[in-house]
Amino acid sequence: DSYLNPAYTFDNFIEGDCNRLGRSAGFAIAQNPGTTAFNPLMIYGGVGLGKTHLVQAVGNYIKNNNQDKFVLYVSSEKFTTQFINSIRTDSLRDFMSFYMQVDVLIIDDVQFWAGKEKTQETFFHIFNHLHGAKKQIIMTSDRAPRDLQGMQDRLQSRFKQGLTADLQQPDLETRTAIIQKKLLAEGIFIEHNVIEYLAHSINTNVRELEGVIVSLMAQASLNRREIDLDLARNTLRNIVIDSDKEVTIDTVQDVVADHFKIAVSDLKSKSRKKEAVFPRQIAMFLAKDLTELSLKSIGYHFGGRDHSTVIHGIQTISDLCSNNPQIRETVEKLKSSLK
Ligand code: ADP
Ligand code: MG
Repeated sequence: DSYLNPAYTFDNFIEGDCNRLGRSAGFAIAQNPGTTAFNPLMIYGGVGLGKTHLVQAVGNYIKNNNQDKFVLYVSSEKFTTQFINSIRTDSLRDFMSFYMQVDVLIIDDVQFWAGKEKTQETFFHIFNHLHGAKKQIIMTSDRAPRDLQGMQDRLQSRFKQGLTADLQQPDLETRTAIIQKKLLAEGIFIEHNVIEYLAHSINTNVRELEGVIVSLMAQASLNRREIDLDLARNTLRNIVIDSDKEVTIDTVQDVVADHFKIAVSDLKSKSRKKEAVFPRQIAMFLAKDLTELSLKSIGYHFGGRDHSTVIHGIQTISDLCSNNPQIRETVEKLKSSLK
């Protein structure tokens, strides 16, 4: 048994800016497992953004097109349980040789191995064996490899050896496409303005989007009525709290200026004053993270800076966050007060 869920395919995985790199790498691997440069493939991103779906789509594709390939999907948690059981029953050798026979090994949610030294050590050996034999390894994680605290350095560096791609929050266009596709799959037609309303209101993750669609369908059939704007509004009111609390660039600037005790106008000015540069970079970082604005329009709101300055600012903060716990904490704090 490969533990794959056949429902997860490329056909029903919507491609968008938020997942393009990961999807195309996954698709390339699906056609040539083990022989692309993407080995291992590490997909990371927050909850409900499609990690499990994407890596299982790769697994299903390979399984369906190469009957002779042994594809194995396993959660990191299950791997650990099997490993511990094998020690308990004195069958570690069997455990190792089983994993070393796999052609395509997919491990979901490796962040769970943080601090689990023995599991990491064992996986390190399996990894090296498979990788050396040009077998495909695919992993997911809820954060970037460099942010995996409690993971051995040598393992972290293996994780980064192939391609690392992140899945981001779906943008408006992708959310719209996902809603349309899900409804189509259920054979349900709804007016475009309702789809638009839903896509605008639910900007967290795909799992939540699906949850809302399921509730909507349930409401519609319970009340024997069509899914219209009214029903959509009522349903959302009951499940998504503060559904219309969108973070705007103004609130980002207010909160950041307030925190650093500077004027909002300093953030928006062209000034290169030292006291303003760092808060401005933080505000740019948060604006990119929490709003839908493009780099260009973010630059516009910060004294008409060009998009490369914005990229530089965001990169600076993102690097600082990985190296400096204090700054990471500040950013997290600002972020949660904005949400
Ligand atoms: P994760 O593993 O990142 O937490 P999942 O893969 O479980 O997320 O995805 C959550 C739900 O959203 C699943 O039902 C999945 O099918 C769906 N989903 C996620 N991304 C997409 C996408 N791009 N297109 C279609 N469905 C998606
Ligand atoms: Mg998952």
